[in-house]
Amino acid sequence: MTTAVIAPRMYSLDKHPDSEVTMTVRCMDGGCTWEPLPTTEPASAHVESELHTAETGHAVFTVSVEYIGLVTVTRADE
Ligand SMILES: [Zn+2]
Repeated sequence: MTTAVIAPRMYSLDKHPDSEVTMTVRCMDGGCTWEPLPTTEPASAHVESELHTAETGHAVFTVSVEYIGLVTVTRADE
C-alpha cells in the first residue's frame, strides 16, 4: 500500500524586486535629537552615523530598514 504525500505550500517573504530600501537612523544618546533625513542610499546613512560618532562620541543609534515586501510561493501543492 502506498500513501500519497502532499507537500505543503511554502511561502517566502522577500524584498519586492522593484522596491527601494530606505534606511533611517536616529541617535539614542540622552537628549540628542540627531536624525538625518531617511535615505535610499544605506551607505550614506552609515557614513553620516560614523561622522556623528566621530564628532560627538555618541555611538548608539536606532536603525530602521524599510522596503516593500513580496510573498511568493516557493513550493506549490502537487
Ligand atoms: Zn547624538
